[in-house]
Amino acid sequence: MSQDKRVYFYDSTLRDGAQTQGVDFSTADKRTLSESLDRLGIDYIEGGWPGANPTDDAFFAELPKLKTAKITAFGMTRRSGRSAENDPGLAALLNCKANGVCMVGKSWDFHVDLALGVDRQEYLEIISDSVAYAVKRSPEAMFDAEHFFDGYKNNRDYALKCVEAAYEAGARWVVLCDTNGGTLPDEVERIVAEVAERIPGERLGIHCHNDTGNAVANSLAAVRSGARQVQGTLNGLGERCGNTDLIPMIATLALKTDFEVGMDARQLRELTAVSRLLDERLNRAPSRNAPYIGESAFAHKGGLHVSAVEKDPRTYEHIDPALVGNQRHVVVSDQSGRSNILARFREIGIEIDDHDPQVAALVERVKAREFEGYAYDGAEASFELLARRALGQVLEYFTLSRFRVMDDRRWNARNELVTESEATVTTEVAGQEVMTVANGNGPVNALDLALRKALVEIYPQLEDMRLTDYKVRILTPQAGTRAITRVMIESADSQGRHWTTVGVSANIIDASFNALRDGITWKLYQEGAKPA
Ligand SMILES: [Zn+2]
Repeated sequence: MSQDKRVYFYDSTLRDGAQTQGVDFSTADKRTLSESLDRLGIDYIEGGWPGANPTDDAFFAELPKLKTAKITAFGMTRRSGRSAENDPGLAALLNCKANGVCMVGKSWDFHVDLALGVDRQEYLEIISDSVAYAVKRSPEAMFDAEHFFDGYKNNRDYALKCVEAAYEAGARWVVLCDTNGGTLPDEVERIVAEVAERIPGERLGIHCHNDTGNAVANSLAAVRSGARQVQGTLNGLGERCGNTDLIPMIATLALKTDFEVGMDARQLRELTAVSRLLDERLNRAPSRNAPYIGESAFAHKGGLHVSAVEKDPRTYEHIDPALVGNQRHVVVSDQSGRSNILARFREIGIEIDDHDPQVAALVERVKAREFEGYAYDGAEASFELLARRALGQVLEYFTLSRFRVMDDRRWNARNELVTESEATVTTEVAGQEVMTVANGNGPVNALDLALRKALVEIYPQLEDMRLTDYKVRILTPQAGTRAITRVMIESADSQGRHWTTVGVSANIIDASFNALRDGITWKLYQEGAKPA
């Protein structure tokens, strides 16, 4: 491998990514994510900020055992008026057990004057001292030059002096940050090339934010100009519009350029799984249209596209989805005909002869359902059940006799307004009629709990299943006389399966029940359960 083409990846999901609204990693999340980043072949994993909070302290107190990745700790340069040896913040950073440290400092004169109120010359000494001290005390020390591009545009000489101070003090990497995310790719390319005349590219890194939607493009521009470390996060997690998304960054460098990413083909196939794992830990639905790894990234809907892709996938795919661990999806919809349905059959493992009369019957059935308001785009599990039921492959695991849901909105004993739901479900399962009651924080939650209470004793496979997403859409039917509700439910289990089902009815609870029933039936079918 030619060393000058090797690009190093620095993951900041656990530190910069954790700045995202609504994101709060536990120590266990940090360990699990570190292990999967290590399997992927990421070079550096920024574990957090020692001394900042108990979660980060617990993480650094017992580092996960990794194969190749180095865990770094993040912190600040020394304060003004203190020596590096006597700065408590720097001590917390350098005393932790990390394999390296990343120190953040300013490089924009405006920030030195305004935010720090420190003399500019003195601030250069702060950078030098802090870096020189860290180089002595840590296995590897690097410097993040905050607001470097804004600083460069405002006062080129001073911004360059800041990064040169860090480089001359021995920083392994000097990382140029587009902290406010406002710089464009042509500017990054030009400015990084100028910096690379003073600091060799194999010592330069890039850290971008996505405020103009250009974080990946900016990072690519920096690499073209010589930078050899790219900082970013999984799925572009990060405050405001996020950081550079490492997933498309890695895939693009590995599959479309002659740069070396230090990962083999097997590791690149982990990209999809690592991206989904992050969403799983954050309990959120993965973005369907994420480049390379999204569920729609290789989905084909139009009938013409589908038949072309069937002949040769290169007609509508920029890479083979398997290279990044993704897969092709053929989407069933009203616009498409036979070839979609047949392709979709193959995808779910059903081999059926083109001329089988069942195909025509199934196409008619899908079209009739779509006329009623069903949509199978994105509800693959319901489609699979529709097909397998039509072919007589799915038996009914239970039948519903009735359900009743009540909502109670009232003032409780503490004079707070509360709304509670209670569902009563009567099902027939294993030849017995069972009645169950459950309370929930909403009618669908109560219905789900009551239904599973009735079934879990007979089908313990349902124990680890949970709802992860619920979406409602009101449709105006062709007749225009009454509104129809379409509910999409995403479920997941502890084996990492995710599946989406759909239900339609004039009544929202009834539509939800239809989607819930499909969700449970699909899970039982996948588990190979036998109808009791
Ligand atoms: Zn950042």
